[in-house]
Amino acid sequence: MKKMILKNGREKSLLRRHPWVFSGAVKSDDDAKSGDIVEIFAEDGRFLACAAYSEHSQIVARALTFEARDVIDDAFFAARVQAAVQRRQSLAASTDAYRLIHAESDFLPGVIADRYGDVVVLQILTAGMEPRRDFLATAIQEATGARTVYERSDADVRELEGLPVRNGLVLGDALDGEVVINETGLRIAVDIVAGHKTGFYLDQRDNRALVRGLSAEADVLNCFCYTGGMSVAALQGGAKAVLSIDSSGPALETARRNLALNGVDAAHAEWWEADVFTAMRKLRDMGRQFDLIVLDPPKFAPTAHHAEKAARAYKDINLLGFKLLRAGGKLMTFSCSGGISAELFQKIVAGAALDAGIDAQIIGHLGVPEDHPVSIHFPEGDYLKGLLLQKP
Ligand code: SAH
Repeated sequence: MKKMILKNGREKSLLRRHPWVFSGAVKSDDDAKSGDIVEIFAEDGRFLACAAYSEHSQIVARALTFEARDVIDDAFFAARVQAAVQRRQSLAASTDAYRLIHAESDFLPGVIADRYGDVVVLQILTAGMEPRRDFLATAIQEATGARTVYERSDADVRELEGLPVRNGLVLGDALDGEVVINETGLRIAVDIVAGHKTGFYLDQRDNRALVRGLSAEADVLNCFCYTGGMSVAALQGGAKAVLSIDSSGPALETARRNLALNGVDAAHAEWWEADVFTAMRKLRDMGRQFDLIVLDPPKFAPTAHHAEKAARAYKDINLLGFKLLRAGGKLMTFSCSGGISAELFQKIVAGAALDAGIDAQIIGHLGVPEDHPVSIHFPEGDYLKGLLLQKP
């Protein structure tokens, strides 16, 4: 095995079991190449971790284990896959779509796997894991019994690893159009090949259920609705009317079909293909008011570098959200930006409430469901933060 030695003092983060090694921390790397497993030592010779090596990335190694006795072979990876799948066993009773492997937080850095019915979508995000794609696909199929393993390795971050995008069948039967999932009684058509992320926003499952519970007799505004998961959930929960806005025409087309799939009354649903920033101003000028507003925008700040511009965007929509809310109404607002902490997000929303002249109350802190665990040693995994607020 190749040996990596860290510069003096740079062993601290691995000692805290944080899995990332930045290139600047490396003293020597034994001429390791992408995909190699490296044994990492402190300058004083202490063993720190075994990691997968990514030659071209700033995160040059990602730890797989902190135990010197572990042997990193096929059996090691198969056991990690098996364990991650096993941890989700109880979820299958309520939904047939959930995350099976959540990268660093499931001790498999660079690997995402999502189940959609009998299809598993695999996403390899790092050069360290790239050569293990076929092995991982087989291990996942064996652990789940999936009919198909499909690869969606087309996330932007692959570029930072020097990897090309890839999108296609890996194992099993070819896809036969969309997959219709059943998420706690919500039926959603998922476009595995071209949908966002691996096809759907599985990380919002609990919050879709929450929307269902908050929607009785409500006028609902769902901003950034994608394929309408929250919109259908609101109608299932007895919403009087739901206005949904997204800038993506294809997403809205699927959203309309999702209404039909669930047998909810299309007469109560209004769809706007529009920019949310403009549309919310229009709603304000029209004097429209809502009982429940959902703001689930895309990542405005992928890293802390974009935080300032992102903060302005979050403040803008939340300020408009507060203005469009009736007294007693509720605002469900999210940020999935890695570059915006929960604390900063709450400050931004507080600033929006202040400018709107509203003493909003927080009645819930929202986040990811249990199939998106966050390793306690890897706070970067905690990307989704949400607040449920009410207007007194
Ligand atoms: N709440 C959704 C997921 C939202 S993802 C769910 O539960 O499934 C974010 C969505 O915002 C995407 O569908 C994207 O098309 C849309 N979007 C991005 N920028 C936008 C903008 N400026 N105006 C309107 N929609 C936008």
